[in-house]
Amino acid sequence: MLIHVTEDIPLSPTDRSVVRRGNRKAQTDRALLYELLDSCLICHLGIIRDGAPIVLPTGYGRDGDTLYLHGSTGSASLVASSQGAPVSVAVTRLDGIVYARSAFHHSMNYLSAVVHGRATTLTEPSAKLHALRVLTEHIAPGSWENTRRPSRKELAATSVLALPLYDASVKLRSGAPNDEDEDVETHQGWAGVLPIQQHWGTPEPCPLLPDGTLVPDRVSNRPALSDRRQELDNRPPQTR
Ligand SMILES: Cc1cc2nc3c(=O)[nH]c(=O)nc-3n(C[C@H](O)[C@H](O)[C@H](O)COP(=O)(O)OP(=O)(O)OC[C@H]3O[C@@H](n4cnc5c(N)ncnc54)[C@H](O)[C@@H]3O)c2cc1C
Repeated sequence: MLIHVTEDIPLSPTDRSVVRRGNRKAQTDRALLYELLDSCLICHLGIIRDGAPIVLPTGYGRDGDTLYLHGSTGSASLVASSQGAPVSVAVTRLDGIVYARSAFHHSMNYLSAVVHGRATTLTEPSAKLHALRVLTEHIAPGSWENTRRPSRKELAATSVLALPLYDASVKLRSGAPNDEDEDVETHQGWAGVLPIQQHWGTPEPCPLLPDGTLVPDRVSNRPALSDRRQELDNRPPQTR
């Protein structure tokens, strides 16, 4: 098994990524960052573009200590991110809504991460292909082996960024409301947590498919996102 240098470095290694507010929720275990990244599908990329902040949702893939982002070479945000400018990426898993005995103490249960750093644009074709494979397999496991690979033209039209996961923080909120003692004693209504879960729906075949085309197992029996971490751990290292 490959040992990555940052795997052994606790989260929030710099002043910028130290969680200040709500620091009881700050996590130090890097494995939790990877679990979160492997169990979500979208991130929010924050950059300064034309002198103003902009935050954009986008897909990603993770390989070890590297986060890959991709898009069109015409994407202004990717161009802005690729010039060594500082970027920030956030990933959030919402676990539930916390109903408290006061409006003030209502909250959300979540696992969230913020990554700070500077992204590198991949130019070498084999590095780009590797990153695209990681991205594709994260978003649609099994698709890389079962679909046409990017052509040279498609590869040239795709910008791929690599962001080190070194400077990252994770916050976790779980459990019951943090109500005031007085409210617990006097409030008559309900309090607790309403969990939220994501499920895959029924596959919708493309209308252009020939009749009788079966839905592949990788689609119809795709594991829940929460199982993703374990699934990746069981793969041979070169495909991770
Ligand atoms: C689903 C969800 C809902 C939230 N709702 C609210 C809300 O309504 N009001 C509110 O005030 N806060 C909310 N938060 C928390 C919010 O994300 C911030 O953590 C909080 O507002 C503190 O901000 P700050 O600028 O003081 O952070 P600071 O603690 O000063 O940030 C310092 C560093 O800590 C890290 N950090 C900060 N927040 C997070 C985070 N959430 N996850 C990972 N790393 C982090 C970053 O690296 C950041 O650079 C919510 C979080 C989530 C995930």
